[in-house]
Amino acid sequence: MTNLPRYELRIGGEWVPPVSNTYLPCDNPFTRENWCEIARGGPEDVDRAVTSARAARKAWSGTPAAERGRMLVHFADLIEANAARLAEIEVRDNGKLYAEMSGQVRNVAAWYRYFAGIADKVEGAVIPSPISGKLTYTRYEPLGVVGLITPWNSPLLLLANKLAPALAAGNTAVIKPSEFTSAATLEFVALMDEAGFPAGTANVVTGLGLEAGKPLVDHPDVAKIAFTGSEMGGQHIYEGAARGIKLVSLELGGKSPNIVFDDADLEAAAMGAVTGIFSAAGQSCTAGSRLLLHRSIHDEFVKRLIDVASQARLGDPMDAATHIGPIATEPQFAKILSYIEVARSEGATCVLGGEPYTDGACAKGRFIAPTIFTNVHNNMRIAREEVFGPVLSVIPFDTEEEALAIANDTPYGLAAAVWTADLGRALRMSEQIEAGKVWINSYRYGNYAMPFGGYKRSGIGREGGVDAIYEYLHVKTVSIDTGSPRANPFVMPGAAPPKNL
Ligand code: NAD
Repeated sequence: MTNLPRYELRIGGEWVPPVSNTYLPCDNPFTRENWCEIARGGPEDVDRAVTSARAARKAWSGTPAAERGRMLVHFADLIEANAARLAEIEVRDNGKLYAEMSGQVRNVAAWYRYFAGIADKVEGAVIPSPISGKLTYTRYEPLGVVGLITPWNSPLLLLANKLAPALAAGNTAVIKPSEFTSAATLEFVALMDEAGFPAGTANVVTGLGLEAGKPLVDHPDVAKIAFTGSEMGGQHIYEGAARGIKLVSLELGGKSPNIVFDDADLEAAAMGAVTGIFSAAGQSCTAGSRLLLHRSIHDEFVKRLIDVASQARLGDPMDAATHIGPIATEPQFAKILSYIEVARSEGATCVLGGEPYTDGACAKGRFIAPTIFTNVHNNMRIAREEVFGPVLSVIPFDTEEEALAIANDTPYGLAAAVWTADLGRALRMSEQIEAGKVWINSYRYGNYAMPFGGYKRSGIGREGGVDAIYEYLHVKTVSIDTGSPRANPFVMPGAAPPKNL
């Protein structure tokens, strides 16, 4: 027994110890000291949570949609009132800047408000019939219990992307947060219970991917899995969902191109390149990790980048003066350092950083200095594989066609940016880049109303925007006979009779 604050599972509106009676420590990336422990859930706990979510279905899906919307608005107010506390917990768990996380939690409230407004605007349609005597219409129905599996980089925002539309649509949920960052999600769902949602509308089973995540994917009473995480995690989820013939949405990794033409506002583009790769210490799915530079500006632009990036202050993520915080997890820290070695061994030139950062307040934490590699070819591993850290690969190009070819020569397709003063070129590029999101002369902007998701290996489905609610709804067709003439009982009404009759 440790003296660490302990989080039990959150099931049916109550704190419930795990069947295993074991707990996993979670550390603070800034100090590397354990600060809490979470329950190590397993299949029996998942079953308990799914049973609780099933039991809540009638109460929640039976709540009129307008009332569901009102509750979500009230809940959004509660999130805002608790934003500082929730953001601080996230920072302690994942090391992202408090300045970013506090803004992000307010944004989380906006997601629930947005989908609250959509809850009572889901309309079916009357379908014209080719024969008389039939009235056919469609209605949308919640899927039932949905399983939501999230990673460690932005726990509450990535949960909101799924839970807000799922709840607005009338579903109940079992959530499996990352084993590295579960505390904020547990506190968040406890807040939902405080807000008066029927007990069991949302439940949290913490633990490891294979012990708590897989049983959720495999559970026969879970209708859909919405997952954000690594490509490999996504493959496992997809395989499991296929075995159960379940709906699935996947938000996976990226290797996003950030393309700067020679006519761009180079000062703005340099800021955008730094934001794209070094904000959140590069632990962002949309990180602009491949910087494609027109050859004529390459050297000058790299100089600018080094100038801006080397001014970044690494330090305590709670300190408003810090620009770059620590790396969230020990495995991720090791993975980033190993990719830096891979880049060196492939012949790329490290022009900035390339090592852990241990100065001053950063001595104990998992810090990596902002790192820039030049002489990168797009076929190197450092240009093809997701690093998920503050490591930038710079690749030169000569023509628009070549920039486009390099941009699309990747297994991923999550995001991209184009910096140019030529509107025609901006539009041509945005049409031809194979990615779910393209920024023109900016990087990283997003909100709840913008559909977001990947092409290729970056995922399946879209989160955000009005249509996201339909990811959590079945469409049912109802056909009513209003008195059609009696026909041949062996032939479907409206079908042409067989020729020999
Ligand atoms: P991960 O795949 O290791 O884990 C994500 C979640 O899945 C965790 O809760 C984990 O416990 C669970 N899990 C892992 N294996 C599982 C299995 N076999 N069955 C069920 N659950 C399982 O990812 P991570 O390291 O936590 O997150 C980083 C990754 O997330 C990066 O690749 C990043 O690009 C991606 N990401 C994508 C987006 C997006 O919107 N596209 C956003 C943020 C992060």
